[in-house]
Amino acid sequence: MKRDYYEVLGVQKGASADEIKGAYRKLAMKYHPDKNPGDKAAEDKFKEINEAYDVLSDAKKKQTYDSFGHEGVNGMGGGGGGYQQYGNMGDMGDIFGDIFGDIFGGGRSGGRRGSQRQQRRGEDLQYELEVSFLDAMNGKEVELKVPKKETCSTCGGSGAKPGTSTKTCPKCKGRGQISVSQGFFSFAQTCPQCRGEGQIIENPCSSCRGTGTVQTTHTVKVKIPQGVTEGTTLRVSGGGNAGPNGSQSGDLYVIIRLKQQANFQRREDDLYTEIKLTYAQAVLGLDYDVPVLEGTVKVKIAPGTQPGTTLRVREQGFPRLGRRAKGDLFVKVNVHVPKNLTNEQRKALFEYAKSMGETAPDANSNSDGIFKKIFK
Ligand SMILES: [Zn+2]
Ligand SMILES: [Zn+2]
Repeated sequence: MKRDYYEVLGVQKGASADEIKGAYRKLAMKYHPDKNPGDKAAEDKFKEINEAYDVLSDAKKKQTYDSFGHEGVNGMGGGGGGYQQYGNMGDMGDIFGDIFGDIFGGGRSGGRRGSQRQQRRGEDLQYELEVSFLDAMNGKEVELKVPKKETCSTCGGSGAKPGTSTKTCPKCKGRGQISVSQGFFSFAQTCPQCRGEGQIIENPCSSCRGTGTVQTTHTVKVKIPQGVTEGTTLRVSGGGNAGPNGSQSGDLYVIIRLKQQANFQRREDDLYTEIKLTYAQAVLGLDYDVPVLEGTVKVKIAPGTQPGTTLRVREQGFPRLGRRAKGDLFVKVNVHVPKNLTNEQRKALFEYAKSMGETAPDANSNSDGIFKKIFK
């Protein structure tokens, strides 16, 4: 039995295209064959995820699926085909690419094809980056200091002391594998002496103790795109750890974490805030300077605006990631009730109440007698 595609991606049936894409990206990264070499369960899961995304990311197929279920999309390419398409991480760029464009410039070269080289590349790194509302709104280029392994410059990654060279492993004769016989059968096994490298270091490099890599702090520039949302993942190709023997580095994944900000909330691309008017302002109306992330925005308060009213100011929210459009600003209006009035102010308010035809309030609560005098 096939599982429901929405269930596979872990999203609600009414999920937006962005939510579907986000869920897919997260799962695809987790179950990608590069990250789970030899794990059949992960591979199946990865195929399932791709199949679900193939349908749910395509408006037409999605509609058919929503109406007719799996029956409807059979033979529409929803089968295993999607898996091939994302057979290696290089193609993952397609997914990130359509969201982030050329954030990192070039350098996202392929060249990681072929399973052997995939295994030998360096590990990917993950970096959580806290971003303020303002930076998420305007975008920003930041410099990150990322601890990572770099190819040792003393030995060029070979791990052998300069002037010496590595020696072909005598046990496996450089093949990295040995055959083990068991009865009539023989099995290939990773060579225990060179651990599959095929080479042995006799004089280890003193800078890296023969590992070929050294721990450094690398400074990397990352451009935070305008409108970036919580959990957005940016990929810096080659920003991960260096691989052994100077082989290709892994990638760096920068995960955006939005910082909370007092007085402001974000929902999707809309910005929410509150203002407190005085009673007179609410009654008479005015052009109010609403504080926003940077500066203020003039908002027209109509005469007689009620407390709790929410005003919408178009296109003063966050830019929509990768699009020209912008979200809106929502301003909730409260009315401030002052606690300490001078006698003169109270008197004015009593006069006002009287002119509105209000009856005299309980005399006990106004022991100074001003109110009573006015209402006489
Ligand atoms: Zn070295
Ligand atoms: Zn060996």
